[in-house]
Amino acid sequence: KKLSIKSSSHSYPVYIGENIRFNLSNLVRKSYSSFLIITDENVGGLYLDDVKQSIGISDNIHHVVIPAGEQSKNIQSFYALHTKAMEYGLDRNSLIIALGGGVIGDLAGFVAATFMRGIDYIQVPTTILAHDSSVGGKVAINHELGKNLIGNFYSPRSVIYDVTTLHTLPLKEIRSGYAELIKEALLADQELFQDILQTNLDSLSNSKLIEHLKKGIHIKAKIVEQDERETGSRKYLNLGHTLGHGLEAELGYGAITHGEAVAIGLLFALYVSEKEFSNNLAFENVFHWFHRNQYPLHIQNMDVNALLDRMRLDKKTLMQRIQMILLKKISEPQIMEFDNYKLEQYITGFISYLN
Ligand code: NAD
Ligand code: ZN
Repeated sequence: KKLSIKSSSHSYPVYIGENIRFNLSNLVRKSYSSFLIITDENVGGLYLDDVKQSIGISDNIHHVVIPAGEQSKNIQSFYALHTKAMEYGLDRNSLIIALGGGVIGDLAGFVAATFMRGIDYIQVPTTILAHDSSVGGKVAINHELGKNLIGNFYSPRSVIYDVTTLHTLPLKEIRSGYAELIKEALLADQELFQDILQTNLDSLSNSKLIEHLKKGIHIKAKIVEQDERETGSRKYLNLGHTLGHGLEAELGYGAITHGEAVAIGLLFALYVSEKEFSNNLAFENVFHWFHRNQYPLHIQNMDVNALLDRMRLDKKTLMQRIQMILLKKISEPQIMEFDNYKLEQYITGFISYLN
């Protein structure tokens, strides 16, 4: 079961399967001088040994375990990982293995993109959310002032998605990952959208999950192949992220998960879409689904102007005007620019609706 993604520099396969973490050495085709596995404390405790053993027996297999969570996606970890790479003697023929969720994927990918001006890396995603982050080649770290503002486009050599690892995910992380799946469904797949609305996350079956993940990856792959460097249609993948990223930075990284922030951001995008296009889109349905599945949807004591300042740092902002992705209807996204006043009105109205 293999999908191939075209990027400007090379094509890379996405393998999806059960227990394929034990098969790494066969799936990684090239030979490398050494390996650096980057993972976090949670994932390391569960899967580091499997991955190490599956690469082979060699004293050239190193690892670094960093604290779990969004707070690790920063310049300090980035620098410390470079230091480790040098101390372990990595060279231009070394491979970095990103073993974990989107935080590890983005951080380890950015280290790979910059170490000695760029070395190979592979993604070994272990969260539902990382079906999204491991594909498409965006790598980044956060700045205090804004999310993902330091980064690059740098594609992995392969993505090895062992869906068995998802069995150990806590419900909170299942929720978080489904926020990105709903985003993809809203952008491109009405049927997937309806199917997710029928799904209860606390009784999610393995086969349903894998079906949803494959569809999500397919949607993502198609969009990034069309517009790798986000000059046009890739911007649509930011649905829910203008407010979402603003919330993450304003509340402090890790206060809520990325997916929780995106869930609120998606609701806001639907709220504004319905006001702008005066249609009956999907706000109510999505709101109730999030509510039933116990997504945290309240926003307390928010300084709306501080939030707007964060949103202005978004990479879509042009000439100080904030851009949002809206939906005219499902599968029909559209970019719209807003002035401060209008957006402030919308945010204030939205927050009071939630609370
Ligand atoms: P994460 O990497 O922090 O993982 C979430 C939590 O789950 C962590 O505590 C982790 O230790 C734990 N975990 C991971 N795998 C596990 C497993 N199999 N079993 C048990 N616990 C496990 O967060 P995430 O939600 O995977 O990723 C969020 C990040 O992804 C954000 O920084 C976001 O900006 C980024 N992102 C990037 C892109 C992109 O295109 N590059 C796209 C979407 C999101
Ligand atoms: Zn996201």
